[in-house]
Amino acid sequence: MATATEFPTQMYIEGQWRDADDSRTLGVINPADESTLAEVAYGGRAEVDRAIGAAARAFPGWRAASVYDRARVLKKAADLIRDRAERIARTLTQEQGKPLPEAKAEVLHAADTFEWFAEEGKRAYGRTIPPSNVAKRHYVIKHPVGVVGTITPWNFPAALPSRKIAPALAVGCTVVSKPAEQTPLTLIHLFGCLADAGLPPGAANLVIAPARTVADAFFEHPAVRKVSFTGSTAVGKELIRRSADGVKRLSLELGGHAPLIVFPDADVAQVAQAAVIGKFRNNGQVCIAPSRFYVHERVAKDFTEAAVELTRKLRLGDGLVEGVQVGPMFEARALEKTASLIDDARARGAKVLTGGGRSTRFEKGYFFEPTVIREVDGRMRIMTEEPFAPVMPLLDFSKLDDVIAAANDTPYGLAAYVFTNDLTVATRMAEGLEAGIIGLNDPVPATPQCPFGGMKESGLGRELGIEGLDAYLETKYVSVGLRG
Ligand code: NAP
Repeated sequence: MATATEFPTQMYIEGQWRDADDSRTLGVINPADESTLAEVAYGGRAEVDRAIGAAARAFPGWRAASVYDRARVLKKAADLIRDRAERIARTLTQEQGKPLPEAKAEVLHAADTFEWFAEEGKRAYGRTIPPSNVAKRHYVIKHPVGVVGTITPWNFPAALPSRKIAPALAVGCTVVSKPAEQTPLTLIHLFGCLADAGLPPGAANLVIAPARTVADAFFEHPAVRKVSFTGSTAVGKELIRRSADGVKRLSLELGGHAPLIVFPDADVAQVAQAAVIGKFRNNGQVCIAPSRFYVHERVAKDFTEAAVELTRKLRLGDGLVEGVQVGPMFEARALEKTASLIDDARARGAKVLTGGGRSTRFEKGYFFEPTVIREVDGRMRIMTEEPFAPVMPLLDFSKLDDVIAAANDTPYGLAAYVFTNDLTVATRMAEGLEAGIIGLNDPVPATPQCPFGGMKESGLGRELGIEGLDAYLETKYVSVGLRG
């Protein structure tokens, strides 16, 4: 890769590592100490248009390649991501903040995603349909959508772009990818793996440029047929409106506000452990993070004590330091928002059991004390807004139907978690909860081979699984009239 600095810093367009035309750069900040890690190339409309042009030129050749040849490139990229996992994970921790073991797990998830779609691309089957007219034959074949634009956020800078790039490339689409401005370094590394795996020039391109400029180009350029976006519901709604003129296909992975529900038959100590892991992973800055904890009144006291004790023991610090379990939050704004959610809850009667504010133990960095609050009610902002914060709000319940109604009382529908060993309760919950992902006794359900995505305002479509492949395919129906 054409860089002498510790971090690769360039865009990747038509098989070339490139600076911005006007040499503009953008600083990437380490949230653990607020230092500038690197200056990355920061392009504009010209670079994005060039990348789209490259993807459009590469599309016919990449689409025509054997699916086995495409799979070989993706599999090789997966192997390279694994070989380089340590370095990529360190970069991810430095630009995003999560502890190194979490970063490593994310990088390996990205590698698994490339490998899984390399294989699954071979199974993009069509079908044959029995005709009603014996002089006809009917077939369904699958056709790659075309050039795909991807936009992803900062909280999982390796996993989220991989869920888009891997399936798109597997079925023969070509790609232009934009990372979040604050976390471009991880995706530059992944593109290094794709380049070194032998991806043909133009098949996947990486642009770093202002979000609106990239979105303008994606929606205005006729070659881009699909936009795949992960981010906030507010921006997702804007993209739905913007997609109308060109009837662009959209996949949207948006916000969430997941309930975690504990029934009295569950092992409270084990569930508290799972709940604390699920909640404070990446500081709660996870779209599927549990963010409303409904605990049956018979076990509420025991659960609360266990959760508070475990939360107090969490080790906060720079994610590169061994033993650290919770890193800094991602940016200063996130600290302010978290504090304001807690202030609002307090003002409306909530009690803070542990944490509750910015950590005073660090001179620099965006550290917030992992927090547990109770006496929470549905009017508080922490219950109505996606918190994206290291805060565990506790609520009691007594009846199954009531907790289903409370859990569903939100515009979001991404994930929900239920802890019980009662098969009937588990079944009723899995069927009654309005969420695209249900973790039954499982606080970390995401895996490449299973569909991931939301109901209601949490999104459109699914990533991962066979659904995640289908998202990059058009269904083409072919009807054949036979000679008499
Ligand atoms: P965001 O503001 O929507 O940003 C996400 C991405 O969209 C970034 O690359 C950002 O670029 C870009 N963007 C911002 N404004 C845009 C616009 N007007 N048009 C086009 N692109 C635009 O989201 P965020 O707050 O950073 O990320 C957290 C959100 O993502 C949460 O709501 C979370 O739940 C959601 N999320 C969902 C999933 C899922 O799978 N459902 C997974 C992870 C996160 P810049 O960085 O350059 O501004």
